[in-house]
Amino acid sequence: MSQWQVGDVRITKFVEKEFAGSVHRFLLLDATPEACKDIAWLKPHFMTENGELRLSIHALVVEAPSCRIIVDTCFGNDKQRENERSNMLCGSFPRDLEAAGFPASSFDYVLCTHLHVDHVGWNTVLVDGKWEPTFKNARYLIAGGEYEYWSCHREKQQFGDYMGDSVDPLLAAGLLDRIETDHKLCDEVWLEPTPGHTPGHVSVRIASKGQQALLTGDFIHSPSQMARHHWGTTADSDQKSSGVDSAANPGPVGDRVDACNRNPLSRSDRRSRNTGW
Ligand SMILES: [Zn+2]
Repeated sequence: MSQWQVGDVRITKFVEKEFAGSVHRFLLLDATPEACKDIAWLKPHFMTENGELRLSIHALVVEAPSCRIIVDTCFGNDKQRENERSNMLCGSFPRDLEAAGFPASSFDYVLCTHLHVDHVGWNTVLVDGKWEPTFKNARYLIAGGEYEYWSCHREKQQFGDYMGDSVDPLLAAGLLDRIETDHKLCDEVWLEPTPGHTPGHVSVRIASKGQQALLTGDFIHSPSQMARHHWGTTADSDQKSSGVDSAANPGPVGDRVDACNRNPLSRSDRRSRNTGW
């Protein structure tokens, strides 16, 4: 469990799954082991000794003075998916949160940076055959028309009807707030638009006592893209607008930047140019 302190704000990372290898074959096509080996600082946390990138599916808990936020909610349990890495999982994510002092009932906000299958899963849990909100005391925040886009393009969902099992139940429960892409959650935490990966994608800016962080969601998929700004991914819906060279500036390299990494796809998925993660 990794933690970062940004002034009065603490960020804690909870990993659902980790992977290494093959990333250059389906997601970051430029990031071959040969190309990555030149970026020595990626080792050991973001790259193996062999130059293969490490990726993870994780959530970030943000503790600000006035509120508690969870950013992105991974794959979730019991969800039918057309991908062996995410289908019908039975992980310990909520128990891990609670054991670390973050029971689901303690959250004020759940923020999905965008609506891809690996960012919405723990929004809901299966109770007596019905999908119910996991974080019952929280407001679920979705920005930039992202809800409207995916509601109108459900055929573009990858690997299963995640809108149906992980987003629609929030609306039915009255817990979903559709917000602007510059929405301010509290004095230290606000959103910044980073479209490109998806039309309404947002990143989360954290600023406190002269320190800053940017939680990037899938604005970038690997810290290697901080060294190679022109490396885009097959998962970006708009290749020109995505990536570090786009409008949103993540700040100096010295800033604390989270690369919310994504995961491998099945062989058949790799044939698709847009992989939807
Ligand atoms: Zn994504």
